[in-house]
Parts: sequence; structure tokens; C-alpha cells
Amino acid sequence: MKITVDRSKCEGYARCVQAAPKVFQLDSKMIAEVVDPQADGDDKILLAARLCPTKAITLEEEGTGKKLFPE
Ligand code: SF4
Repeated sequence: MKITVDRSKCEGYARCVQAAPKVFQLDSKMIAEVVDPQADGDDKILLAARLCPTKAITLEEEGTGKKLFPE
């Protein structure tokens, strides 16, 4: 799964970090970054994207580029 965080939309709520802490971390500017896209399961990553209040997280299928979130 390809994970993109739109850093201009992220407001540092850290919901994504709570949902998938091995994938998302806040950087020194309190903006989310992807530290390891494969460290948590796809279900947790999808939950993280759903929970993000500013819809800053986009998910695509690796290889096909099919958009998984937002649907
Ligand atoms: S949940 Fe969204 S707004 Fe909050 S830190 Fe993660 S990407 Fe940023």
C-alpha cells in the first residue's frame, strides 16, 4: 500500500499515530510522516486514514495505483 500524507493538510492531531504507531510518527514540526509503510497491517493503516480529521492521508494500491482511500 502506498501511503501519502499531504503535509499542507495535516494539523498534527496524531490520530494516525494512535491507529498505526509503527507507520506514522509526528516529526519535529508536529506534522505526520510515514516512517515505515509496512510496519503495521493494512487494516490499521486504513483506520488511520479514516480517522484523520483533515483527510490528509491518501492510500493507493502498490503496483496498480488504484485509490483505496478516500474512496
Ligand atoms: S491524523 Fe491527520 S492531521 Fe492528524 S497527524 Fe495524522 S495526518 Fe496529521
